[in-house]
Amino acid sequence: MNLSKTYLCGIFGYPISHSASPAMQNAAFKALRLQGIYLPFEISPDELQKAVESIRFLHFTGINVTIPYKEKVIEWMDELNEGARLVGAVNTIHYENGKLVGYNTDAPGFLESLKRELKFEAKGKNIFLIGAGGAARAVVWALIKSGISSMTIVDKINDKAEGLAGSFSSKCPIRAIPYDSDWQTFVKNTDLLINASPVGMKDSDDTPIDLGLLHQKMAIYDLIYNKHTKLVKTARRKNLKACSGLGMLLYQGVLAFEIWTGQKAPVGVMRKALMKHLGAKH
Ligand code: NAP
Repeated sequence: MNLSKTYLCGIFGYPISHSASPAMQNAAFKALRLQGIYLPFEISPDELQKAVESIRFLHFTGINVTIPYKEKVIEWMDELNEGARLVGAVNTIHYENGKLVGYNTDAPGFLESLKRELKFEAKGKNIFLIGAGGAARAVVWALIKSGISSMTIVDKINDKAEGLAGSFSSKCPIRAIPYDSDWQTFVKNTDLLINASPVGMKDSDDTPIDLGLLHQKMAIYDLIYNKHTKLVKTARRKNLKACSGLGMLLYQGVLAFEIWTGQKAPVGVMRKALMKHLGAKH
């Protein structure tokens, strides 16, 4: 064991008790025999600035940031990487050389998962996205960077879909369609349907689209990570490529670990820890 370096890491959120990241990151430290610890910190909104300052004072190695602070912490970063700047959200902070550097690993984490789990090549494809909240922003940027052909977005709150489409429309043909329109019919031309809404999280939830609209040429990515939703299960029964958001959660953590330690993350160990923590049936 290398005792010369201790990795002090954690996650800021509110609430935070649900977080699976401590299990995943601590398993990674253990597997690589690194001296490191990753702790959950529940930070109330009026304590957030002090908490971010404490990263400097206590010499943390790095911090993950989750709901509802990914946008807010940006103002206290000394530097942002390109992804964090363009997505407008930081989920990983690295304290390096006396500077707080903000990264967004949700976006590349999503792409990694898309490639590895769904074996989906995004370049030149038409995408349909349901939900235009914080997670959707990272997904949109990641896909645009991959050279998709077009994207259509719908959200229960039309302004959100329009805002998200508007902020990337100079980079790719991307449109928002009103929720009270016949939007489900647009799904028939899509290569990849993404659910970035919370619909499906609860067992009593309906599906975000009519399952009769699934067709043989489409793949499904559901960002919900604690289970396979009805949408994913039905798609798989129809022999479509479909996966949950577990891989996105995993790879955002893998990339954060690699930023903090400079070492290759033990992906298999992290996946196992995540699944054990979530009790996920994947
Ligand atoms: P969010 O900011 O609340 O955004 C979700 C958006 O979807 C909201 O605008 C919501 O509108 C809208 N919506 C709700 N029901 C809808 C429907 N039936 N049709 C269309 N839009 C609908 O949440 P988020 O942070 O982006 O998270 C979204 C989902 O992604 C959650 O399930 C979360 O667990 C998951 N997630 C996964 C990962 C991962 O690593 N796999 C990472 C982040 C998030 P209202 O506000 O009006 O409900």
